[in-house]
Amino acid sequence: MQLYNSLTRTKEPFVPHEPGRVSMYTCGPTVYHYAHIGNLRTYIMEDVLDRYLRYAGYDVRRVMNITDVGHLTSDADSGEDKMLKGARREHKTVMEIARFYTDCFFEDCRKLNIRRPDVVEPATACIGDFIRVISALLEKGYAYKAGGNIYFDTSRLKQYYVFHNFEEEDLAVGVREGVEEDGNKRNKADFVLWFTKSKFADQELKWESPWGLGYPGWHIECSCISMKHLGEYLDLHCGGIDNAFPHHTNEIAQSEAYLGHPWCRCWFHVHHLNTASGKMSKSKGEFLTLSLLESRGYDPMVYRFFCLQSHYRRSLVFSYENMDNAKAAYRRLVARVAALRPEGEVDRAAFEAQRAAFVQAMDNDLNTSLALTALYDALKAPLNDATRLALAEDYDRVLCLNLAEAARRLREEESAAPAADAALVREIEAQIAARAEAKRAKNYAEADRIRAELAARGVTLIDTREGTTYRLEGQGKA
Ligand code: AMP
Ligand code: ZN
Repeated sequence: MQLYNSLTRTKEPFVPHEPGRVSMYTCGPTVYHYAHIGNLRTYIMEDVLDRYLRYAGYDVRRVMNITDVGHLTSDADSGEDKMLKGARREHKTVMEIARFYTDCFFEDCRKLNIRRPDVVEPATACIGDFIRVISALLEKGYAYKAGGNIYFDTSRLKQYYVFHNFEEEDLAVGVREGVEEDGNKRNKADFVLWFTKSKFADQELKWESPWGLGYPGWHIECSCISMKHLGEYLDLHCGGIDNAFPHHTNEIAQSEAYLGHPWCRCWFHVHHLNTASGKMSKSKGEFLTLSLLESRGYDPMVYRFFCLQSHYRRSLVFSYENMDNAKAAYRRLVARVAALRPEGEVDRAAFEAQRAAFVQAMDNDLNTSLALTALYDALKAPLNDATRLALAEDYDRVLCLNLAEAARRLREEESAAPAADAALVREIEAQIAARAEAKRAKNYAEADRIRAELAARGVTLIDTREGTTYRLEGQGKA
C-alpha cells in the first residue's frame, strides 16, 4: 500500500516495523464539548485506514487517548485549561464533563460506524507514566525547571521543526498570534511538560510530583500513552492536520529524546472540514454536530458517505447543499443494492477481477472516492446479482456504509408502505405530541428519547418554526 507520509512529504510504500503487524496511534478528542463534524471527519478517515489495513490482512493494534487534562486554549501552552473551561460553562466537575463528553463522542462514533480502538486511555489514568518520562528527560538534560514548571529544551535537538520548514527566528511564540511570551522559556519553541505554576492556578485536577503539586502538559500524554501500549517503535500516527504543529512536532521531540532513536515511521494527517466562513472550531463555539445533522434529517451514514467522496488530503467544504447531494447519491446507491436479488452462485474469478479495482484505489493513498467509483462499477458490471452483491458487501467491510442493512430496510419499507400508512401516521403524530409536551415540561431526556426511538424506526423529526414535521426513510417530508 502507498501512503502519504507527512514526515517525508512523499507518497511511499507503507512498511510496518514487524511484517504483518501494525501499531497505530490516534490523537483522541479533548472532551470538553461535543465533537464537531470536522473532528468526526478526521475520525472517519482514520477509521477507513484502520479497517482497510485489517481488510488487507494486517494485525492492527490501535490506541487512542482521551484528553481530559492539560489541553490549554492555545496549543502553545497558554490560556485556560479547556476542560476547566467546559466544567465552568456547565457548572459541573471536570470529571463529570469528561465522562459526559467521552460518552457522547463514542455514541457519535457508533452512529458513524467508527470502530472503537483496541485501547482507549484517558490522560488522567496515566499520570505516573508522564512523571516517569519527564524525570528521564530531566536526567538526560532534555528538560529544565523554570518558574515552577518543567520545560522541554528544544535547543538540545539537531532538528526540532520536522513538519514545518519555519526558520526559528520567524516564529512567534508557538506560532500562534496573540500568545503571551512565557518568560521562563529558554527558547521560543520550548514547551511545558509539567505545570505547577500557571496564570490559571485554580486547576481542579492536580497530582503530586517530584516538582510539586501540578498537572501535565498536553503533548506528553500522547507520547507516553503510545509508548505504554505500543512500545518503542510506532508504525502509524494519525491526527488532524492542525495537530502537526506544535502537537506532533513536540511529541516527536520528547519521544525521540527519551528513547534515543527514531520513533514513528509514518504520519497520517487528515485535512480540515471547513464551512464557507472558514475553519470549524470547538473553542469558537460555532460548530456543527452529528446530532444537529440528524435533527435536520441526515442519516449519519450520509455524512460518512459525504466524507468518503473526497480524499483525506484535501480540505473539504461543508454546506447543506453538499449534504443534500450526498443524501440523494447515498439513497440511489442503497436503491441499487436493494434491487439486487441474491440468486445464483458467486462467480469467484469475476469477483476477484472486479475487486482488484477497489484494492488498487485504496492502495493508492486511501483514495476513497475512487473506491466508491469501483463500487458503482461493480454494481453495473455484467455479472450476476449474487456476485455484485458479494462485491458490495465485501467493499462495505471497509467503507462501512451499512449498505446491506439500508437496502433491507428500503425493501421492507417499499413492501409495507401502503397498508401500514394510516396507523403509522397516527402513531407518529401521537409521539410528536408527547415530545412537545416533554419539551414544555423541560424533560429534554424524554424528548430526546422519543426522537431517537422514532429515528430508529426510520422516522426523522424536523423541527421548524411552525412546529414539528417528519420524514420517513425513503419518502419525502410529511
Ligand atoms: P480535539 O478534540 O480538538 O483535540 O480534536 C480532535 C481531532 O479533530 C484532532 O485530530 C484534530 O486535529 C481534528 N480536527 C480539529 N478540527 C478539525 C476540522 N475542522 N476538520 C477536521 N479535523 C479537525
Ligand atoms: Zn495527540
